[in-house]
Amino acid sequence: MGLSEIKERVQKAEAEAGRAPGSVTLIAVSKVQPDARVEAVLEEGHRTFGENRVQEAAGKWPGFRERYEGIDLHLIGPLQTNKARQAFDLFQAIHSVDRPKLAQTIARLAQETGHCPDLFLQVNTGEEDQKAGVLPGDTDAFVADCRALDLPVKGLMCIPPVDEEPSLHFALLAKMAARNGLSGLSMGMSGDFERAIALGATHIRVGSAIFGERDYT
Ligand SMILES: *Cc1c(COP(=O)(O)O)cnc(C)c1O
Repeated sequence: MGLSEIKERVQKAEAEAGRAPGSVTLIAVSKVQPDARVEAVLEEGHRTFGENRVQEAAGKWPGFRERYEGIDLHLIGPLQTNKARQAFDLFQAIHSVDRPKLAQTIARLAQETGHCPDLFLQVNTGEEDQKAGVLPGDTDAFVADCRALDLPVKGLMCIPPVDEEPSLHFALLAKMAARNGLSGLSMGMSGDFERAIALGATHIRVGSAIFGERDYT
């Protein structure tokens, strides 16, 4: 696989779903990948990347930013409140807003700095104990809370349970976003992004299908 093949598959899925070309943002998830692989994708002209840890992103992206213009960095992993300020400096979007305390911290930082990354609220659609995100039943209230704080909420995000058909979760997320008047849907990874696009994804998060398997050793 690789970037160009994934881009072709995205275009095909957009067309099949009757979606406008370019309506889906491809976030290349570069976490854990060696710099050389990330650099190769930058050289191909791609500029939208996802990282799941603030610390790792802080070590790696300032250097790339000195050499490549227009990098758009998305935080897709959990955010501790004590790392929120650092996240503000690094990321143009945060996909993991999952609790009121974090929303309050972000609101305070937005006041202080005069800017705020685009925000996606993470929903634990599978209601899994070990997974972050607000429960589906709490989502409407959380959206309202974030709006009351004047936060720029662009949409919802989910990571479906590994052992379930993701389409059910994508459809649920799309329904919750629609009833809250939110247009952004961050859903779909290497194994299921075409199904996510069919169900309305605006942001897909694709790692291994672009870069190859992650080596955690
Ligand atoms: C790692 C990660 C991805 C990418 O997963 P792949 O299966 O490699 O495409 C997407 N979303 C989140 C939240 C991740 O942590």
